Amino acid sequence: MFDFNKFIDLLNESVPNNYDEAINNVKDYFHIGRIEIASENFSGSIKCSIDSDCNETPLTFYKHHDCLVTFYSKKDGYNYSADELKDVNMLLKLIAIYNENFALAIKTREAENLSYNTKLYNVHGYIAKLQSLKDSIDGTMYNSYYINLKGFGLVNKLYGTTLANEAIVEFAKTLKNFAEEDEVVGHLGGDNFVAFIKRERNEDFINTISRLKVYVGNKRRKIELTLISVIGYDEVKDIVVNYSTIISNPSIACQYARNTKRNLVKLTPDLLEMVDSIKNIESTFDKELEDGNFLVYYQPKFDIETGKIIGVEALTRWNNNGRILPPGMFVPILEKNGEIVKLDLYVLETLCKDIHNYRNMGNNIVPASCNLSRRDFELEDLEDRVIEIIKKYNVRTEDIVIEVTETTNFEENERLARFIDKMHRNGILTSVDDFGTGYSSLSVLRDFKVSEIKIDRSFINREILNDSDKIIIGSIIDMAKKLAIEVVCEGVETKHQADFLVNLGCKKAQGFLYSKPVPKLEFEAMLKEIGTYHDIS
Ligand code: C2E
Ligand code: MG
Ligand code: MG
Repeated sequence: MFDFNKFIDLLNESVPNNYDEAINNVKDYFHIGRIEIASENFSGSIKCSIDSDCNETPLTFYKHHDCLVTFYSKKDGYNYSADELKDVNMLLKLIAIYNENFALAIKTREAENLSYNTKLYNVHGYIAKLQSLKDSIDGTMYNSYYINLKGFGLVNKLYGTTLANEAIVEFAKTLKNFAEEDEVVGHLGGDNFVAFIKRERNEDFINTISRLKVYVGNKRRKIELTLISVIGYDEVKDIVVNYSTIISNPSIACQYARNTKRNLVKLTPDLLEMVDSIKNIESTFDKELEDGNFLVYYQPKFDIETGKIIGVEALTRWNNNGRILPPGMFVPILEKNGEIVKLDLYVLETLCKDIHNYRNMGNNIVPASCNLSRRDFELEDLEDRVIEIIKKYNVRTEDIVIEVTETTNFEENERLARFIDKMHRNGILTSVDDFGTGYSSLSVLRDFKVSEIKIDRSFINREILNDSDKIIIGSIIDMAKKLAIEVVCEGVETKHQADFLVNLGCKKAQGFLYSKPVPKLEFEAMLKEIGTYHDIS
């Protein structure tokens, strides 16, 4: 009996280099009268046959990969002519080449469907795998997840891309090990992952990936990292309807989690509706601003040692039909369409008005800051507009601080330098927000006349503050001090973090340990209750 698998094995053994050898290997099978190959999948179709005097009923069919090979037996006593023998050889060569191409195509196709470094499914592979599962599972018993690793940009920055990639691979391994046969996990690139997991295993899944300790580096320098997942998920309604929502729905929830600084959010109809209404901000923004729906909240800055209030930052909230939304939900949209400058000047004006009124009531005040976006610097006369507003409300220049963020490229840097310089010449203080996350942190210290830096919260807001953190944060504080620049640390949430900072010589902090951003009246009450640095004699 013709053993097709053996036949293919023999061919494969000699492929790819030597087809003659391949034919030699299979010559025992030359009693076959006719071979037909038909394949639809690759480079159109190949179909070829040799006709010798053979029995008309196929001897046997073989489905090999996607290729149907049909063999017809030779009539007894028939011998191939020399030409026919050539044809047989030719056909066997074709099968051999086809076989090799197929193996290659499979490899390429696999590579196309897999993420390069983690070997999890990429977006195409993920969708294709779900498609292949749809008939064998009940999709409504599953949840779809979108996972982003919190603060992973900083891991990249602190440890370099090689170690960061190792951490990503470790995370991927955990996902892969967790997934059962009928579940799918994927890596969309960067620190973004997706998963399709049975709902009954939801809790187990979340517990597995919420906080994952991984070890990277080599024997000489093993580093322990805790990867924190920001997870958005959705209960799958019907996987057949739309495969893409299997990624986009949980991704909306994940984005919302990031914007509102949570680690786990489930998609609800309410959330979907809200996301829709936020998208409309492009058309409703002017009216919302005019109607006073953008509110200014205040988050105090504290002196860690005395516990007194030494400053405050104005942070915007959007009252969207009674839902108070954080800036993460709308600032990026306004930055994209360039409307952000209107909001920023509005916040500055509101802040100046508030300072003016509060001082007029005979109160001590603390320096108050507001944020400018990178895009604001596209406005040529931004400096004049800022100065004009401050003057309009008779605000003393020492009572106001303009927070700017580091730039991402050289041109932006030039523009920022001009702005800071003009503020400086007019006695207005500037502060560099989210310090340490931009591209030119050190040159900012050296070249710009800023009065303060705010160390980004990702530096301090960590599970364990180790020796590396001590060195990095300590050096920033030392450098700034030597350059007579004030240092505030953002995102201080625990007493331990505050003590850690004091030990490194940083006395100013802002963070949930002390207060969240609160409405104006609440802040005024806090000023009275806690007191300001003016109260220290
Ligand atoms: P930012 O200027 O760095 O403001 C600090 C952010 O950190 C605030 O978030 C604050 O609520 C949050 N935060 C403070 N302490 C802690 C803490 O202990 N832990 C954690 N996890 N977070 C803390 P918020 O109010 O959501 O603002 C986010 C960002 O949105 C701001 O970051 C700022 O870049 C931007 N933003 C806010 N208001 C405005 C504005 O009027 N204009 C512009 N252009 N951007 C704004
Ligand atoms: Mg700020
Ligand atoms: Mg900041």
